[in-house]
Amino acid sequence: MDWYCKHVIHGNLSVKRVYESEQLLAFHHTTPFFEHHVVVIPKQHISSLAEAEAANPALAIELMSVLHKLAVDFSTQWGGCHVGTNVGSYQSARHLHWYIHSGKRIRDRDGNPLP
Ligand SMILES: [Zn+2]
Repeated sequence: MDWYCKHVIHGNLSVKRVYESEQLLAFHHTTPFFEHHVVVIPKQHISSLAEAEAANPALAIELMSVLHKLAVDFSTQWGGCHVGTNVGSYQSARHLHWYIHSGKRIRDRDGNPLP
């Protein structure tokens, strides 16, 4: 079981939620790499954007709507943001997750805090 299914969806890890519905959960990254860093995941297990299940139209519509709202919030508050998702060997966990981040990088790629 991947990290998101194990700890966030079916586990007891406490996350700071910014949005939740039957299908989706958005929360502040537990170890943020940027000053402002939110993660959006489907509650149903989908490995990545490349998986066939990701073509679920209702989920895709809600996901885009949530990403849109977060992009507006981030842009309004901090002037802009990056929105993205990784696939395959680029993934830190094999569960579809989207990142929205803005501001200064506060950790390096290995997760070590930057001065
Ligand atoms: Zn999963």
